[in-house]
Amino acid sequence: MKYKKIMVTGGAGFIGSHLVDKLLDAECEVLCLDDFNDYYNPALKRQNVQQHLANPAYRLVEGDIRDKEAKELIKEWMPEVIVHLAARAGVRPSLSQVELYQTTNVAGTLNLLEAAREAGVKKFIFGSSSSVYGLNKKVPFSETDPLLKPASPYAATKIAGEALCHTYAHLYDIHIVALRFFTVYGPRQRPDLAIRKFAERMLQGEEIVLFGDGSSARDYTYIDDIIRGVIAAIEYEGDKYEIFNLGNSSPVQLKDLVAAIEKVLGVEAKVRRIGDQPGDVPITYADITRSKEKLGYNPTVSLEEGLKIFIQWLRGKRIV
Ligand code: NAD
Repeated sequence: MKYKKIMVTGGAGFIGSHLVDKLLDAECEVLCLDDFNDYYNPALKRQNVQQHLANPAYRLVEGDIRDKEAKELIKEWMPEVIVHLAARAGVRPSLSQVELYQTTNVAGTLNLLEAAREAGVKKFIFGSSSSVYGLNKKVPFSETDPLLKPASPYAATKIAGEALCHTYAHLYDIHIVALRFFTVYGPRQRPDLAIRKFAERMLQGEEIVLFGDGSSARDYTYIDDIIRGVIAAIEYEGDKYEIFNLGNSSPVQLKDLVAAIEKVLGVEAKVRRIGDQPGDVPITYADITRSKEKLGYNPTVSLEEGLKIFIQWLRGKRIV
């Protein structure tokens, strides 16, 4: 790795903890800032950082990206790169907690950008989302598509975060890459996300709830592919502001996802169907031409392979 001193916000979460694994393997010094909030069981986040704590190159600070202490921390530690992954990440909860999503995802991002500017940090990676494409009818989604149809407060906060990133890259001496992640899955996946939720319930013989008629589609992307994309973005030396899709470019319908999980688990799902959920979009589908060309990003893990690894991990946790 070209950079050796990297701060990861949200480094106790699903994607963040995998990134920290790789950065420590690459002998980087890592500062993790995470508030261990209870959006999902914080004990899972404690497990995610357990191995990191044994590494002397790792420092954990429990704190909030919105606080002035976060700014002071950046000035004191002076990272070469900030990878900003901390966020309120659920689509549906964002409808009932609009203010929390706004202060965390927008004001929190602004606080970090200001700190980066004041401290002279030269590189900032922003964890954005496929949700920014909202009700975009054109598929696959490409980075140049207009973003005027977000379908949830969460999506709107990620668009606002990207706008702030563009502003800071334009005005100041800081290179910024916004990465639009498409439904990420794999070991340590967030418990509120479909694959994990379904698999856990199916293993316990409980019913699963499907929204809509099963035709909605997501571009499920395996965590190792995502992390290779994040590392490439850290090393990227192109324009001052860039946006990249990190997806699998192979959308899967909800009913096919359930069938794939059934096959890997060897369990038939008990399905209950209810209507579409407000905030959800019908499809996500990444055009990865730009990420391939400029980042060398090339996802290699198929849904079937990824599910096998994930289920093996889940069974190892002895949840049944
Ligand atoms: P996660 O919830 O597992 O990780 C986020 C971490 O941020 C958590 O550990 C949480 O405690 C921390 N955090 C939240 N608010 C904080 C605050 N105010 N101060 C400090 N720490 C705070 O989520 P994830 O799935 O790993 O997502 C990581 C990032 O990627 C998020 O920005 C999310 O919006 C984005 N993203 C994820 C997906 C996905 O499929 N997982 C898809 C698109 C975008």
